[in-house]
Amino acid sequence: MGDPVSVESWLVSAGRDRRPGSPLNVPPCPASNFVLGEGRAYSRDDGTPGWEALEEIVGGLEGGSSVSFASGMAGIAAIFDQLPAGSVVALPDDCYQGVAGLAKAGQSRGRWTVHRVAVTDTAGWIEMCGVADLIWLESPSNPLLTVADLDAICAAPRKRGAILGVDNTFATPINQRPLTHGADVAVQSVTKFIGGHSDLLGGVVTVRDANLLAALRQARELAGATPGTLETFLAVRGVRTLAVRLERAQRSAMTLAERLARHPNVTVTRYPGLASHPTHEAARRQLKGFGTIISFDVRGEAPAADAVCAGLQLIQHATSLGAVESTIERRAGIPGQEHLPPALLRLSVGIEAVEDLWTDLDRALRNVPEVPRE
Ligand SMILES: *Cc1c(COP(=O)(O)O)cnc(C)c1O
Repeated sequence: MGDPVSVESWLVSAGRDRRPGSPLNVPPCPASNFVLGEGRAYSRDDGTPGWEALEEIVGGLEGGSSVSFASGMAGIAAIFDQLPAGSVVALPDDCYQGVAGLAKAGQSRGRWTVHRVAVTDTAGWIEMCGVADLIWLESPSNPLLTVADLDAICAAPRKRGAILGVDNTFATPINQRPLTHGADVAVQSVTKFIGGHSDLLGGVVTVRDANLLAALRQARELAGATPGTLETFLAVRGVRTLAVRLERAQRSAMTLAERLARHPNVTVTRYPGLASHPTHEAARRQLKGFGTIISFDVRGEAPAADAVCAGLQLIQHATSLGAVESTIERRAGIPGQEHLPPALLRLSVGIEAVEDLWTDLDRALRNVPEVPRE
């Protein structure tokens, strides 16, 4: 962050045009082309005021310079695009399935080879830093919420020209700033917490190096991976309330995780804030807050977990995360996620009243037909 201003104030004040007579909020700019002369000529090359506002806000939070994209995946693909032919990519064993798919598709076309490393295998990551051209971390991971030792991995000597990137979507730039730990790249799927309302797709990639910044801008321009004008407007509007949304939702998440952990029809509860989580200590060291995502296993098999989703009335049975509304989904039902426990539900806690959320969850869990009642 440029100015010594608190995160909450930065979120509200950054990315505004303060010249007299300017609108308080950067309006959407539905323009492909501009009158030639000075300044912008064409949006895909030269951007829009809305992109710049979003990039200023998120860049300030992450502590670097940002490039906005049409989606989180568009930004991640632009990073993979930087790799020379025959590169080595190190990827977490537990990671966003879109990134795993992208890595696999590139490998099958001979563009790179992929090595999967367990999130907690710090020695394995340190070793990969010496040989890989792209070291890709996701912490906390999706959906097991495992926390990687960012300081140890980022401090390891890297192969010349290697890029170390961190998917920071689950943490948000409020709870974690990977660039300050020594990462080269931090990624946000704006679709999630930054936007916060399940009404847009967007991505932001933040870097420290000027050459990488220029290369990512070029990759966006050449691939046409540009964010939409309305989406950017909504993302800026959404991010203004990130701090209050996150504060409320993660307080509720802690309460719900504690109660789920004691529920008779729940066998495992994973939340980095629980002392029982395998990487709780790393989470305490590294994260400012434990986030809003919980994954838990319903007693029984997949049908029991599906029945919980179907029985909820307040919590939305939907994919994705990081929005004002709570959403829940059985992850092993998704293609490519079959390795997960069959009855694992991923819950993204929203900003509803926590007692209402608990009433909804508890009722749905108690009504699972296959599960013996108390
Ligand atoms: C959603 C998500 C992405 C992809 O973002 P899109 O905006 O859907 O392209 C990447 N990483 C994580 C951790 C995500 O949750």
